[in-house]
Amino acid sequence: MRLSELKIGEKAIVVKVLGRGAFRKRIIEMGFVRGQEVIAELNAPLRDPIKFKIMDYEVSLRRSEANLIEVVTEEEATSVITPTSHGTTAEESTHARAAEMRGKTINIALVGNPNCGKTSLFNIASGANEHVGNYSGVTVDAKAGHFDYKGYRINIFDLPGTYSLSTYTPEELYVRRYLNNEMPDVIINVVVASNIERNLYLTTELIDMDYSMVVALNMYDELEKSGTKLNYKLLGDMIGVPMIPTVSRSGKGIDELFDTVIDVYERRNKSVRHVHVNYGPAIEAAVNEIKEKLRTSKTALKYSPRYLALKMLEGDNEVMSMLSDNENFEELKSISSKLKAQIEDALHEDIEQAIANEKYGFISGALQETMQQGAEDSRNITRVIDSLVTNKVVGIPIFILLMFLMFEATFVLGSYPMEWIETGITLLSSWLHSIMTPGPLKDLLIDGILGGVGGVIVFLPNILILYLFISLMEDSGYMARAAFIMDKAMHKIGLHGKSFIPLVMGFGCNVPAIMATRTIESRSSRLITILINPFISCSARLPVYILFIGTFFPKHVGWAFLILYVAGIAVAFITARLLRRFYFKEDETPFVMELPPYRIPTIKATCRHMWSKAEQYLRKMGGIILVASVIVWALSYYPRPDIEGELTPQQATEQQANSYMGHIGRAISPILEPLGFNWKITIALISGTAAKELIVSTLGVLYAGGEEAPEALSAKLTQPNPATGSPDFTPLIAASFLIFVSLYVPCIASITAVAKEAGSWKWGVFSILYNTFVAWLCAFIVFQIGSIFI
Ligand code: GDP
Ligand code: MG
Repeated sequence: MRLSELKIGEKAIVVKVLGRGAFRKRIIEMGFVRGQEVIAELNAPLRDPIKFKIMDYEVSLRRSEANLIEVVTEEEATSVITPTSHGTTAEESTHARAAEMRGKTINIALVGNPNCGKTSLFNIASGANEHVGNYSGVTVDAKAGHFDYKGYRINIFDLPGTYSLSTYTPEELYVRRYLNNEMPDVIINVVVASNIERNLYLTTELIDMDYSMVVALNMYDELEKSGTKLNYKLLGDMIGVPMIPTVSRSGKGIDELFDTVIDVYERRNKSVRHVHVNYGPAIEAAVNEIKEKLRTSKTALKYSPRYLALKMLEGDNEVMSMLSDNENFEELKSISSKLKAQIEDALHEDIEQAIANEKYGFISGALQETMQQGAEDSRNITRVIDSLVTNKVVGIPIFILLMFLMFEATFVLGSYPMEWIETGITLLSSWLHSIMTPGPLKDLLIDGILGGVGGVIVFLPNILILYLFISLMEDSGYMARAAFIMDKAMHKIGLHGKSFIPLVMGFGCNVPAIMATRTIESRSSRLITILINPFISCSARLPVYILFIGTFFPKHVGWAFLILYVAGIAVAFITARLLRRFYFKEDETPFVMELPPYRIPTIKATCRHMWSKAEQYLRKMGGIILVASVIVWALSYYPRPDIEGELTPQQATEQQANSYMGHIGRAISPILEPLGFNWKITIALISGTAAKELIVSTLGVLYAGGEEAPEALSAKLTQPNPATGSPDFTPLIAASFLIFVSLYVPCIASITAVAKEAGSWKWGVFSILYNTFVAWLCAFIVFQIGSIFI
């Protein structure tokens, strides 16, 4: 608990002091160090200040100050530590040990530019499995992990990447609020060693905020390879923050990093001090004037008055609202805006620019003394490859070729393991057929579970191959180039290249893709990118495509795939244009498109990525798909007719048509009849709204019965329906069906993501209605026009 909550006469032991460096130092110097005993002498509710007794003398602290001191009371101590059985521990020492234990928990936040290796560091330190990618915006939420190290419990948080903390993007706001609310004990600022000048910008902002910090000079391997020499010890001493070289890909330097974190936490590190970046006489004078008025502010416990003054001069909204409950807020506001105008007049540039320039000046000064640039060979390789893949003429053809290769490989390479799994399931199913006595249990196992889950599980290899390609493109740095070359095309639909990465990610799964839009600064561009994302065919739709293309268009596999994907992309682009034209007024924020150096993807990261996808897929099989298959089976199996023994195919069809499912399907199917779909197809499409794989598993269940010899689903789809005498699917119906599936209502997870990221359920509902309408229209056109010719 916090010291401010301590009741009169109650005793507690100090665990740690939170807040910014200078505040912490002052409080610690007053005697509030770990293990010290404090007693509350005067603590009336709402009374300020509070009086405490520590080391036999009295101190009074403001309530807001006491609120930043973590303590353990005697009462709490027993819940922290259960007394050990050997030997009786005195009450006193249980209490002290509890404080010691609590004090040995260090909360660490990883802060750094996008793509600097935070997640790699997080994974290697905590043994987690988060997704790394070589472009900005992979991590969009804080991920928590923990591990034990040298007697400490380390809680580590991976935050989204940011270039600065000036509240322009959702990530920056997120990171700022996180640091402000959670108050981590130590920040690890991850810095790309080979691009240190740019990366240290964020470091200077953190220095201004006066956080306890260690810099991880990550990708040190690349710096060494380029021949650059960096005296990082001296640099760390100069800026008052210890620096440790790391290679978070291999784990080099990670132990030293956490040793240093512990040293900083325990205030043993000699490099640590609060350095002031000098902003020049005009700004400094203004800062001092505002600073004086901030001395008594509560906010100054978390941030230095200097930082708050700078941000007030910049007119930073977040800081303004943090200070708004100060009694002299109005005065502060008018002074700072007056000073801001004066400075801008004197310097002939706007103040944010001036502050940024001074920061860069500080950095280049520090690097001048500590760094010797080597020949940049790795940059050269990057330049050579870039001149090819971002080339005006061949760039886009190369991209299309890669995409085509990706889908071709997904189908062709995937078809071998797919056949093995298919054979396995057929064998299992005939074996069950031969050993089990007829009855509902047998039908449930063979038709319900094997028909449903088995029908979908065969596509696991295809999905893994697709993810292999996406993962390689992300990790190597190619994805960022793809975004770069698509920038111009994206401008045509009122978006920019940055929107392209979420779209390509959508080939894997729309949910993370929709979350990845958080890097897009402009709100309207972000909304449009979110809304068009579900039109990008995700891997869950792949089973439907493979099954139907393989069954009905085996001679034109590549083309059929291409048409489906392109149709989705075309609809997405048309939608974007329409939204831009009729709903969102034009707003273009210029932005930097990062081109990170190429990196050879590691086998480990790639395997990790694929394994986590496989795991996800298998979980889905065992969960929603299993349950849904059983439900679909039961609804189509009952009620049973009064017939002894096994049903003839004719009877089975009749039974199914009269089942509960048959009734539901026929009630709805008039809407879909103009597209050529019967009631079974309707049911499959409805269950597909929960997850797209369910389309195949539902068809698997509905088309399972009636056959003597079990065979693959594709064969069953082409057989004539005993009731009508012709097959339920013709190539034309299959085409209309494929188009419909590629466009219609997003799955529940995507709808939720759309609503959450767009900030309103209105957009979730829009997605449902609009996408289904578009799908219906396209399938209608395909089927009706096709019917004229066939
Ligand atoms: P984040 O955006 O900061 O979370 O960065 P990631 O952890 O996703 O890493 C970005 C890319 O840099 C990935 O391709 C990593 O494999 C690569 N990477 C991370 N750390 C290192 C390192 O120390 N050395 C090298 N050469 N590459 C690294
Ligand atoms: Mg990350």
